[in-house]
This record gives sequence, C-alpha cells and structure tokens, in this order.
Amino acid sequence: MANTIKDILLDLLKTVGPSGSEERVINLFGQSIAPYVTEVKTDVTGNCIAHKTGSGSKVMLVAHADEVGLMIHYIDERGFLYFKEIGGVDTSLLPGQKISIEGINGSVIGVIGKKPIHLQDKTDSPRTINPEDLWIDIGAKDKKDAEQKVHIGQVATIISEPVLLSDKIVASKSLDDRIGLAILIAVAEKLGQTNADVYFVASAQEELGSVGAQTVTERILPDVGIAIDVTHATDYPTMSVVKDGDIKLGAGVVIAVGPNMHKSVSDKLLNVARKSNIPYQMEALPKRTGTDARAIQVAGTGAAAGLLSIPCRYMHTPNEVVSIADAESAVHLIIEYLRLYNN
Ligand SMILES: [Zn+2]
Repeated sequence: MANTIKDILLDLLKTVGPSGSEERVINLFGQSIAPYVTEVKTDVTGNCIAHKTGSGSKVMLVAHADEVGLMIHYIDERGFLYFKEIGGVDTSLLPGQKISIEGINGSVIGVIGKKPIHLQDKTDSPRTINPEDLWIDIGAKDKKDAEQKVHIGQVATIISEPVLLSDKIVASKSLDDRIGLAILIAVAEKLGQTNADVYFVASAQEELGSVGAQTVTERILPDVGIAIDVTHATDYPTMSVVKDGDIKLGAGVVIAVGPNMHKSVSDKLLNVARKSNIPYQMEALPKRTGTDARAIQVAGTGAAAGLLSIPCRYMHTPNEVVSIADAESAVHLIIEYLRLYNN
C-alpha cells in the first residue's frame, strides 16, 4: 500500500495547480483513477468526477486539487514581474525562492529577489512583508522581452521538489491537498467488490472558499459527502496542544467532530476505526471547518458531511510535512466504512 500512495503522491506533487488553474492536476488525477472506476468526467467549475457505480447509497469523497500560488499582474520596464497572491500565501517565505510560471510557451523559471544582507540597513528587513515589496526575476532584458514569455494573469508556484525525510515522512509544497487526491486514488484501487455507489472528486478552488465542492455537491446530490484534507499537526515547537488540540504526525487519520459534520457520519467513521483497529485521532471543530466539508454541508438542500484529515506540519509553506502512515490509515478507514455502511 505504501508504494502506491507514495508513487501517486510524488507525481501529483510535481504538478502545478493554483486555484483556478488546476487543469494539470485534474488531468493527472483523472488518468490515475480511470482504471478503477466506471467513468471519469470534468465539469464547468473544473472539478474532476470519477464515478464507480453501485446500488448502495450515494457517497462522495472529495479532495481538493488546487494549491496556493501567485498571479502575475504587472511587468515593469526592466522586465521584472510583480504578482498578487492566490489563497493564503505566507509572504514572508517568498524572498529567495525559485518560482515556476505557467508562461506563454510553457514553464518559465524565475527567482524572487532581495537586496543582499551586506547592503541592507535596519529598515530593509521589515517585520511584515507585502507582495508589492517583492518581484520575480526571469532574466528578461526588458519589459518587451519579458512579455514574450509571460502575460498578465498567468500563474506561478514555488518550486519545491518533494523529498523523503524518512521512509514514511514526506516534505513538499502542496501536500495540502495532493495527499488527499492520492488517498482517493488508493481507495478506488483497493475497494474491490462492494456495492457502494462512490463519486471520487478532485475539487477546484478550495483555497478560495470551496467553490468546486459546492457546485459538485449540488450536481451529484450525495447522501454522504466526506472531505479528505490536511489539518494542523501540533507536535512541533511553537504549537500549543492546549489551544489547538493534540494532533501528531504518524498517529493516524484525524476524524473531525463538530456542527459542520453530520453526527451519523462522524459516529460511523469512529465506529469503523475502533472496530477495525485503525489508528485514528480526533479533532473538535466547533466553528466552520474552512474545508470542503463546510460546502458539502450547505450546498443545495444539504448533504450529510464528514471530514477526515491528515496531520500536516508547516501548512502553506514550501515544505509541508506529512506521514504516509496517516494516509494509509485514512485509506483503510474509508474502505472499511464503505464496506460496512454502503453495500
Ligand atoms: Zn486543503
């Protein structure tokens, strides 16, 4: 199981897909899951819907395809590119990064520059840094040269090659939520004989307010919709278990409870985990989840929502860290849930 998730995941992590420009991720997801489902299609919002038909109740599993990123909005006379941020970007981490822009004729590599330490005075390293203080250098001669390669509105992400910190611990950008997509593909592959009627959805624009999850829920009208996303691990310096709960890497999939999640769904997931001895952790979410589970709950006339999360350190940085073991427990849990409750 580990190899499957790891292999799929590494491919997904190398794919660029800021919110609104998820096509590459959607295509890879569709191709990867196609052998295990009845049909794969995309919708007008940009979601990918992979349907495995069955006679059981309708279950929708959703992981989001998009990631945070940058959008080029101004090119100056010297050919430097200025950008706005897509989603919750930590601006302070951008200086010094390599950037991949989806340019006019394919990928354009750039770097986000900064005045050297030797030449800085105290005011050059402000506590808060804004996107307008930063620029991307693509090695262009001037504005005209830059405009041959990139136009206004094109998107970019940080370049951060995935690495294994140990056998099961991965560091990369966009593990939020490519780990969720890898879980969906692994579930589809291993599901085997069951009557569950399952929709595996790679949703678009979660980082901008679960746009895709809302439209896809209204289209499919599932009985149950479960979002699979990441949540904040609290097992590293500066985090507080008293404030944010005790969530550890490698301690199992996280089952969320709270008003966004339907009690019957959370209860069944907990029941399955206990019965099948699947490692799990619990997360109390008394407010909006900020995930696709919220959109699933309120779309149309509403669906019974659930939320499963993978603990993630350093979310929305160039090096998010998750454990493959937690993804494996999520796959195991979803399969047992479908076998027990949706035949
Ligand atoms: Zn996410």
